[in-house]
Amino acid sequence: MAMTPTELSTTAQIRERVSKSLRSCGVDLAADAEATWGSWTPITGERLFPVTPATDTEITMAIARAYDAFGVWRSTPAPQRGALVRRWGDLLREHKSDLATVVTAEVGKISSEAQGEVQEMIDICDFAVGLSRQLYGRTMATERPGHRLMETWHPLGVVGVISAFNFPVAVWSWNTAIALVCGDPVVWKPSETTPLTSLACAALLARAVAEVGAPADVHQLLLGGREVGEQLVDDPRIALVSATGSVAMGQRVGPRVAARFGRCILELGGNNAAVVTPSADLDLATRAVVFAAAGTAGQRCTTLRRLIVHESVADDLLAGITEAYAELSIGDPFDAATLVGPLIGARAYEAMLSALERARADGGTVITGGQRRLHRQAPDAYYVQPAVVRMPDQTAVMREETFAPILHALTYRTHAEAIARNNEVTQGLSASVFTRDQREAEEFMAAEGADCGIVNVNIGTSGAEIGGAFGGEKHTGGGRESGSDAWRAYMRRATNTVNYSPELPLAQGVSFL
Ligand code: NAD
Repeated sequence: MAMTPTELSTTAQIRERVSKSLRSCGVDLAADAEATWGSWTPITGERLFPVTPATDTEITMAIARAYDAFGVWRSTPAPQRGALVRRWGDLLREHKSDLATVVTAEVGKISSEAQGEVQEMIDICDFAVGLSRQLYGRTMATERPGHRLMETWHPLGVVGVISAFNFPVAVWSWNTAIALVCGDPVVWKPSETTPLTSLACAALLARAVAEVGAPADVHQLLLGGREVGEQLVDDPRIALVSATGSVAMGQRVGPRVAARFGRCILELGGNNAAVVTPSADLDLATRAVVFAAAGTAGQRCTTLRRLIVHESVADDLLAGITEAYAELSIGDPFDAATLVGPLIGARAYEAMLSALERARADGGTVITGGQRRLHRQAPDAYYVQPAVVRMPDQTAVMREETFAPILHALTYRTHAEAIARNNEVTQGLSASVFTRDQREAEEFMAAEGADCGIVNVNIGTSGAEIGGAFGGEKHTGGGRESGSDAWRAYMRRATNTVNYSPELPLAQGVSFL
C-alpha cells in the first residue's frame, strides 16, 4: 500500500523558506508589497507573495532597452560573451538549492527533481561557454577559380522567451545561455504561475552581468500573463520568439510571428509513448515507465502517457507497474521521501477526472490510481494517485495530452503495429522502445520508425540531457533548443563569396559583358 500522507509544510513555512532563498539570490520582495497580483504554491493551494505584473509601457521600454543593448552585445567578441555565461553558471552553482527551493514552492516539483532542473541550467551554461569559441561556419568548394565560398554566423537580434510553468528555470536557461553567447539579448516572459522563480533567476543573471561589465540591458524580465506574451509575439524588434507551452498556445503564437516574418522556436505539448517488446528487460522497463509516467506528477512535456505493450508480456508488466505505483509516496515535495508532489491546481485535477471518465466510457479499466488525496489543512491543494488505465484501443482521449499522471496501456501483436500506434497521434515529442532485440531497436529509430524528435532505447521518454537538441515534430512545433547545433536558430547565416582573382567568372558558366 502507498505510504500514509505525511503532514504538509504550512504556507507560513513555505513563505519563510522562499523569502530566505530569494534574499540569498538578491531579490527583495518588499518593493512589491502593494501589488495586487501574486504567486501561489500548489503545496497548500495558498498565496505566497504579491508581485507586480509589467505594464504596457514597461513592456515597450524593456523591449527597447534590449534592442539597444543588441547594438553593443553583437559586437562583443563571442568568447567575452561566454565569460558572462561562465560567471552566471558559477552563481547558479552557488545558489542551486536556493533556486530549487523556489521551484519546489511554486511548481510543487519534488526537491530532487527541482535540484535536477537547476543542474540542467548549470550544464547548459557550461555547454554555452564552450560554444562561445565554436560558432563555426563552413568553407565550401567553389566552382570558380580564384574565389572563396564560406558562411559566417552573426547575432540575430533580441530573443523573446515565453516559458511554461512546469520547467520554470531550465527552459529559460537553455534559451538564454545559448542566445547570450550568440550575441542576442533576451526578454523573458515566464509563466504567470512562477513569478518568484523568475525573479530569483533574473537577479542572479543581473549580478553576473554587472560583475563582468556586460551591457546592463542584455536581459529583461517581464512578469505577467498571456497579454505580455502577446506583445512580445507582435513586436518587430523581437527577432526570434522561443515559446514553450501547450499546442493551443503555439497555434496562436506561430501564425502571428510568421505574419511579421519573425522567427519562431515552438516547444509544445507531447503525448509520448513507450513500446515494451517481448524481449524487454521487464524489471528495467517497469522502473523506467514508473519514473516517466508518475514522476513530476505527470507534468512534464515528455511524460509517458501511452504504454504500447506486447500482448505476451502485458499482464506481467502491468502487474509490476501496479505494484510500484502502490509504493509511490505522494505528498509534500519538500519531504525527501516524497516521489510525487501536487498537481499545479484545480484545472489540472478536473482535466484528469474528465480524461479518466472518457477513458472509462471508451471501455478502459482503471487498474490503479486516479483518486485525490485530500489534506484537511490544504483543501485547495490537489494531490492525486497516478493512474494506469488499460484501454481496448487507442481512443480519442489517448490522442490528447492531459497534463496529469494518467498512463493509458494497450497491447499490440507486431512490431510494425506498435510503431504505427506510436505515430498515430498529432504530437511528436518523445518515444521509447524497451527491447533486447537489436533489429527492433534499429527499426524503431529508423526513418520508418518513431516519428518523434527524441527516440530512446531502454530509457523512458523523459529526462533528456542538455547535450542533445531538444524538441519534437508535428504539433509539438518542430523547434529545437539546448545542445547539438540548436544554436544556429539564434544566429543569422551569411553566405560569403570572395573573388580574389582579377577575372569575373560568373556562376553556372553564364557569359555577360
Ligand atoms: P500554456 O500554453 O498555458 O502557457 C505557456 C506560456 O505561454 C505561459 O507563459 C503563458 O502565459 C504563455 N501564453 C499563453 N498563451 C499565449 C499567447 N496567445 N501568446 C503569447 N503567450 C502566451 O502552458 P503551461 O500550462 O504553462 O505548460 C504546460 C504545457 O507546456 C504542456 O502542454 C507541456 O507539454 C508544454 N511544454 C512543452 C515543452 C517542450 O519543450 N516541448 C516543455 C515544457 C512544457
